[in-house]
Amino acid sequence: MRCIFCLDEKPGLLFTDEHVFPKAIGGRFVIRNVCKRCNDLLGSRVDCRLTEHVVVQAARGALDLAGKGGRVPKLLEHMALAGKPGHRLVNRLDAHGKPQHYLVPHVERRTNADGCESVSIVVDVSDRDRLPEMLNKMRSRAGLSILPSDEIQSRAQVVCTPHPVMEKHFTVDEHEYKRCILKIAYELTCHWLGEGYLDDPHAELMRRCVVSEEAPDEEMTRLFFDRIDYHEDGGLGRFWDFEEDSHLGMLTPLWTEAGIAAYVRIFKIFEGTLLVSRCSVAERYPSIEGMFVGNPVCGGEVRELTLRREISRNRRNPSP
Ligand SMILES: [Zn+2]
Repeated sequence: MRCIFCLDEKPGLLFTDEHVFPKAIGGRFVIRNVCKRCNDLLGSRVDCRLTEHVVVQAARGALDLAGKGGRVPKLLEHMALAGKPGHRLVNRLDAHGKPQHYLVPHVERRTNADGCESVSIVVDVSDRDRLPEMLNKMRSRAGLSILPSDEIQSRAQVVCTPHPVMEKHFTVDEHEYKRCILKIAYELTCHWLGEGYLDDPHAELMRRCVVSEEAPDEEMTRLFFDRIDYHEDGGLGRFWDFEEDSHLGMLTPLWTEAGIAAYVRIFKIFEGTLLVSRCSVAERYPSIEGMFVGNPVCGGEVRELTLRREISRNRRNPSP
């Protein structure tokens, strides 16, 4: 079998299932011609840039889509108290769906004018009983006597913040996530055009762009990176607007027959329309038909069919 990324011929047992749309975003459309080595490498280097993109993480949280470790990302789970450096909060919903805030224990050290170090421990009120143990552990490490629990408790102060302002900083990647969308377009094209596509000059360019750790050159930027962006209403994906929680992929010969284009949509968040071949369709891919894949992430069949059949299905039944 030949891997579509390293192009090496390897025995079948060195290949694993490759989820074209990453599994962490609910991808269930699987191909088999990516070797395990490339699969692992690209998963940790390319796929994660899309699955961990802050906007995608928000969608995963809302749809309960767990990543490899089985964890569903919750963007607002870990925050901080505004204006209080080091005061970290964990926000969770209780059994009744009511938000509960928990203050992570926080130690503040201060050196006094006499050179002694004083320590104050700030804990959530639910951790109040743990205070003596925490403080005495620090005292014993510093060679000080152990204090009775009552004394520590009597010196503890309860501070109430009735309307706490919480803050969270996000980093938004506007570039690297695109490499994963390019990878999806490449895999779909390989899947639908077959092994003959691997020698297409455009395939070589896409492959290099996916696996490279370097910034794309001018040609790659113009051909690929500039063609991928946030989803906009009115684009090609508008015919599937009712399928919000689906990933889409399409391949279609250009009407001039001087090339083939692929369209990829991730939820209704990102989309890209990419030229995947500049070869003459009649000469090189005479039997190619427009192809479609729809991958709903919350149940429902993954459907792979010709674009023609999908469009007539869509017209007949616009809300499956
Ligand atoms: Zn490989």
